[in-house]
Amino acid sequence: MNVKNENTKRKYRVVIIGAGAAGLSAANSLIKNGLDDFVILEARNRIGGRINSIELGSQKVEMGANWIHGVLGNPIFEFAMSHGLVDILQTPQHRRVVALSEDGKQVSFEVLQEIYEAYLVFLRRCEEYFLAEYVPPDNIFSVGQHIQLEIDLYLKSISNDKDKHLREMIFKCLLKRECCITGCHSMDEIDLLELGSYTELQGGNIILPSGYSSILTPLRNNLPQEAIILNCPVKTIKWKKKKTVITSPSGLNQIPEEIEDSDGNNSESGNAKGSSCVQGQLDSRVQIVCETNEEFFADHVICTIPLGVLKESPNLFDPPLPDYKQESIQNLLYGTVNKIFLQFDRPFLNQDISEILLLWNDDVQSKESTEEQIKNFWYRKIYSFSKISETFLLGWISGKEAEYMETLDDKIVSDKCTELLKKFLKDPCIPAPIKCIRTTWKSQTYSRGIYYSTVHGAYLSGRSAAQVIYTPESPQEIVMVNDSSDLSSWIQGIQLE
Ligand SMILES: Cc1cc2nc3c(=O)[nH]c(=O)nc-3n(C[C@H](O)[C@H](O)[C@H](O)COP(=O)(O)OP(=O)(O)OC[C@H]3O[C@@H](n4cnc5c(N)ncnc54)[C@H](O)[C@@H]3O)c2cc1C
Repeated sequence: MNVKNENTKRKYRVVIIGAGAAGLSAANSLIKNGLDDFVILEARNRIGGRINSIELGSQKVEMGANWIHGVLGNPIFEFAMSHGLVDILQTPQHRRVVALSEDGKQVSFEVLQEIYEAYLVFLRRCEEYFLAEYVPPDNIFSVGQHIQLEIDLYLKSISNDKDKHLREMIFKCLLKRECCITGCHSMDEIDLLELGSYTELQGGNIILPSGYSSILTPLRNNLPQEAIILNCPVKTIKWKKKKTVITSPSGLNQIPEEIEDSDGNNSESGNAKGSSCVQGQLDSRVQIVCETNEEFFADHVICTIPLGVLKESPNLFDPPLPDYKQESIQNLLYGTVNKIFLQFDRPFLNQDISEILLLWNDDVQSKESTEEQIKNFWYRKIYSFSKISETFLLGWISGKEAEYMETLDDKIVSDKCTELLKKFLKDPCIPAPIKCIRTTWKSQTYSRGIYYSTVHGAYLSGRSAAQVIYTPESPQEIVMVNDSSDLSSWIQGIQLE
C-alpha cells in the first residue's frame, strides 16, 4: 500500500475516492473487468472506513460494522464464504435478556415478552404504509408519532397504574434501541411512509469470527500494490459539465452547449427542438486536488465519501453538484450512534445473562430535549449493556446524547457507566472498568456520522458505479456513491431474543 505517495503517476482513467467497502468493491470490479488504470485515494492511514475491528485486550471488538445482515442474496456473505471467513459451524450464542428498573428490580420475562411482541406489531404496522400504500391518520407523519399513538392506545387498556408505568418504561427502552438500529436521534425523524421500503435479506445476522476487517484482506489483495494511496484526503474535485454537441439533421450548425447535470439527467435541450441531438464529451477530464496539494487527473471519478462528510463539504465539487443532488445530500438523514466498550478485570454478571435493558422511571428523552437536558441526562440514552465476553460489556447510545458523549473524557464515561451498573444491578461492589473505549463517529473528520445503510449496500453501490464505467454506454464523469443503493436488512440489526 502506498502510505507516502511516491508514485509519480498522476493521470488515471479512474480515480476512486475512499477505500471503504464501496471504494474497494468498485476497484475489485474494475480489475475483474480488465480495467487496471485506476487509483484509490484514501484520507485515513488505513483502509476499511466504517469497517474497523480492533484488539482490546485479548478481545476483538468492532468499532464500526458488526454483522453481515442476511445470507440469501447478500454479496458480502457470498464473498466472505468464498474466502473462508465465515464459520459455518458457528452455534448461535445463548441469549438471555433481562430488563431492570432503577431500583434493581427485574421485570418478569412474560411482561418483557408481551411488550416486545406488541412493539414488533406496532413497527410492522408502520411498514404497511409503504407496502400497502395506506393513508396515515391525521397529523401522523413519522414512525415515532405512529408508534407513540399505538403505545398510548395499548396503555389505555391497562387499569393498574403500576403495571401501566412498567410497560411504558419498556416501550421507551425499545424506542431508544430502535434509534440505535435506525441511526437517528428520535424515531420522530423517520418518515412513516418510507419505513416499509427497507427490505431484509433472509438468514439472520452473521459475525465474522476474525473480525469484520478480515473481509478487507481479500478485497485488498486483488488490487495492485500501488493502487491505494493512504493519507491522501481529497479537497476539491474539479469537473467539467458535460458538453453536448447539437447537430442539425444536415450536420450543420454545431453548437456546443452545457447541460445541467453530471449524469445527463434533467438536461435542458431547448435549442435542440426539431433537431437530432448527438451528445459527445469534448473534454471529460476531472482534476482532483488533495489537502497535500497533490493533483490527480482522471476521465472518471467514483466518489465514495460518506454522506456526513459530503454534508459538511459544500466546496468539495467545483462547480457544485446539480441542485437536486445537493438537496438530497442535505435532506438525507445521517445520524450518530456510538458504542461504549467496557473491559473489566473480573466477571461480575451472572453467566446466564447476555444483556441488561435499562428502564428509567421518569425518562426525559424526547426529540425536543434541550441542550441542558442532554448535558445532564445523556447517559439515559444508553438503552442496554450487552456482554461481548465475561469481562467485556458493550453499551449503545444514539443521537444528540451520543454526540455529547463524544465530547466527554473516557474517565467520565467510564465512571457514569459504573454508576449505572451499580444502580441497575443494585450491587455497590461492581468493579470499575479497567478500560473504557468508545467510538466517536460524529467527530471523525472522514465519517461525520454513522450509517445510512449496510456494508452490502456499500459493496453493491461500488460495484454498480464501476459498471457504469466499463460498460460501453456513455459513462458519467462523476459517479456519486454512498451506502444508499440498498437500504436493506439492518432494521433487525440488534436482536432481542
Ligand atoms: C458503528 C457502526 C456500526 C455499523 N454496523 C453495521 C453492521 O452491523 N452491518 C452492516 O452491514 N453495516 C453496518 N454499518 C454500516 C457500514 O459500516 C457502512 O454502511 C459501510 O461500511 C459504508 O461503506 P462506504 O465505503 O460507503 O463508506 P466508508 O466505510 O465510510 O468509506 C469511505 C472512505 O472514504 C474516506 N474518505 C472520507 N473523506 C475523504 C476524503 N475527503 N478524501 C479521501 N477519502 C475520504 C474515509 O476515510 C473512508 O475510508 C455500521 C456502521 C457504523 C459506523
